[in-house]
Amino acid sequence: MARRKKIYEGKAKTLYEGPEPGTLVQYFKDDATAFNAEKRDVIEGKGVLNNRLSEFFMTGLSQIGVPNHFLKRINMREQLIRAVEIIPLEVIVRNYAAGSMAKRLGLEEGVVLPRPIVEFSYKNDDLGDPLVPEEYIIAFGWASQQDLDDMVALALRVNDFLSGVMYGVGIKLIDFKIEIGRHYEGDFQRLIVADEISPDSCRLWDIETNEKLDKDVFRRDLGSLTDAYTEVATRLGVMPKNAAPMVKPTLIN
Ligand code: UDP
Repeated sequence: MARRKKIYEGKAKTLYEGPEPGTLVQYFKDDATAFNAEKRDVIEGKGVLNNRLSEFFMTGLSQIGVPNHFLKRINMREQLIRAVEIIPLEVIVRNYAAGSMAKRLGLEEGVVLPRPIVEFSYKNDDLGDPLVPEEYIIAFGWASQQDLDDMVALALRVNDFLSGVMYGVGIKLIDFKIEIGRHYEGDFQRLIVADEISPDSCRLWDIETNEKLDKDVFRRDLGSLTDAYTEVATRLGVMPKNAAPMVKPTLIN
């Protein structure tokens, strides 16, 4: 059978043409990158976990009426999604100081913020995804004021949902990134959550111990990334406790 046509290959995912017009197949790779792809590795099983976790979060968002691209999971590594026009912005929501914000403002990581803060980075690897004020976004035509208002509203709803779900399994949602796309239905256009929601794009700390259960484990060499993601998936009931999706079957003589 001829392989589907590849539409786009990113660092952690590949997009293929979907079976129907307006759909795409999103394939989750095991590749992990950090610091603008300066650090890279292949983490066996990461793609399987992120496919499941993104399905779990997107399905939950649909159930509370937050529009997103997810249609259905196809297999261990692939899901069917709505094709959208990605807005070239990373929408970041922060509940606690960490990462680049902690550095920029000289804050200790883990300090609770006065309220959730939404910020935007311009998606451009050559420039290292620089933080941009809303005025730049409008002036350069990446999004309109109405789009921005809608994006902030979407991002805050995702934040409330994710924070609650995580809190329920003893995990603090420190911050996360989403991407938003324009979805066209006839003459109508609406903004929907796209890309993925997984521990690759969130900071997740155990409530009791502050143990990191997200991509910082890879960025900062803190241990096994699959163990961390499996812990998140197990707590959420996304993966049964004894499943070991990342382990290749070994041949026994
Ligand atoms: N993030 C992401 N992709 C990026 C940049 C950030 O998914 O290209 C996520 C990151 O995992 C964290 C949040 O966005 O959950 C905020 O990241 P930050 O700005 O602190 O950047 P970092 O410290 O990761 O460079």
